[in-house]
Amino acid sequence: MLRGVRITCPICKTVLENAPDDHEPRPFCSARCKLVDLGNWLNGSYRIPTTERPENNDEDFGPS
Ligand SMILES: [Zn+2]
Repeated sequence: MLRGVRITCPICKTVLENAPDDHEPRPFCSARCKLVDLGNWLNGSYRIPTTERPENNDEDFGPS
């Protein structure tokens, strides 16, 4: 019989009601969400200190 665990993915809020106990990407629903979280974490933690303003794309040149 299955001994599922309930996982609520912090990324996409998907609820897995019967995830296997050894669900690899826990606490995420999938490896993809795990990567998304890792990416967010890296972006936040390893942000390079800079005084430069981020370059914005000029949207003034679009076809009219
Ligand atoms: Zn997810």
